[in-house]
Amino acid sequence: MPVSRRDFVKTSVLGAVAAGVGTRAQGEDAKPAAQEHDSQSGSHKRPIIVCANNGFNYLDDAFAFLRSGGDTLDAALRVVKGPEDDPNDDSVGLGGLPNEEGVVELDACCMHGPTRRAGSVGGVRNIKNVSLVSKAVMEHTGHVMLVGEGAERFAVAMGFPRENLLTEHSRKIWLLWKEFHSTDDWWGPGLADPHWQAPDSKPNNDKPQAEVWQERIQNLQARAADLGIEPELQLAAVRKVLFPPTGTIHCSALNEKGEISGCTTTSGLAFKLPGRCGDSPIIGAGCYTDQDVGSAGATGSGEENIKVAGAHTIVENMRHGMSPQEAGMDALKRIVRNYNGDMNKLRFIDMTYYILRKDGAYSGVSLWEGYSEGHPHKIAIHDGSRRAEVTVNLLKGYSQEFPPFPNIPEDLKKGSEYLK
Ligand code: ASP
Repeated sequence: MPVSRRDFVKTSVLGAVAAGVGTRAQGEDAKPAAQEHDSQSGSHKRPIIVCANNGFNYLDDAFAFLRSGGDTLDAALRVVKGPEDDPNDDSVGLGGLPNEEGVVELDACCMHGPTRRAGSVGGVRNIKNVSLVSKAVMEHTGHVMLVGEGAERFAVAMGFPRENLLTEHSRKIWLLWKEFHSTDDWWGPGLADPHWQAPDSKPNNDKPQAEVWQERIQNLQARAADLGIEPELQLAAVRKVLFPPTGTIHCSALNEKGEISGCTTTSGLAFKLPGRCGDSPIIGAGCYTDQDVGSAGATGSGEENIKVAGAHTIVENMRHGMSPQEAGMDALKRIVRNYNGDMNKLRFIDMTYYILRKDGAYSGVSLWEGYSEGHPHKIAIHDGSRRAEVTVNLLKGYSQEFPPFPNIPEDLKKGSEYLK
């Protein structure tokens, strides 16, 4: 049923949920990302580190390490270890949102340019720093990729501690998700609960969609309160239940000598099927580094990135003469091509590429501008000055989260008190 604009203007809670409650905002003074002419001006700096914006806070330490002669891969790993260790970053490492069974499963990979080696792990449970485990695979085995239980056992053999990666907060969000999707099973309050109500047997066709969603969100918020989620975090939790988020960090580092490395780490798509590996541990998709050319990495819709081998495509494009920005735009166009340009589908897909050429030219490109107005995609850079820059986007507008949800008017989003 179509939803009127007025319906939504009335629904402030809905607006807050749809507008990105809980979005992490760093480097708010961000400028547009490196433009084409910058990449070709020849004035690029080395050393330089380029990463996803959730690495912003860890760049100073990694840059100092790189500048004092530290290895390029170790510098990149210093950046991504920050979010892996942070229990409040629920997209990576400790505290990552779990799979549909409530188990955190992590993916990571790395490439060391100077020695032309790679390592990768997928679907790893109970080990926090999977980026470092991917490096251990590279250094201590004759393999490139280990997955699942074998990867966990290898990590333990290498001295990584087993720990519970599910924080209380992530567990409660998962439980909320589980109960919300449980009209047909035994999760959630049962018959004996004093507030239990039989599901409405009458079809709801006459109710405006906005009202249906408003009720749903209010019920979810009440359930979040029952589960002990703090009031200020309840709407953000509701949002994560309605739109399972992704989140990842990629980092590439280049030193003064021109050595370059990259790595990517993630807990992947929230509430995924157990065993699902996204693009992040796939060498050539989530990360690719070639010492002769440069390095690239990705965050966003993993399944789509795997199909275009995004990071490898970008590095090959640069090898054949494209600038970092052109190379990234071409990979994004391949994603658009895979859907024959069908915006009804593409609006649910998003992708950001972080691109660093061997001479220090870099670019951040995205399929869409961001998730909503005021929340553009950004990359973080340190080349002596640490900053965040807005990415260059292929398509105008904002991606929508999946599953489909009614459009929210911009004025409602702007007016939301929860966006501050
Ligand atoms: N690409 C990651 C994945 O699909 C998620 C993300 O980047 O947010 O697992």
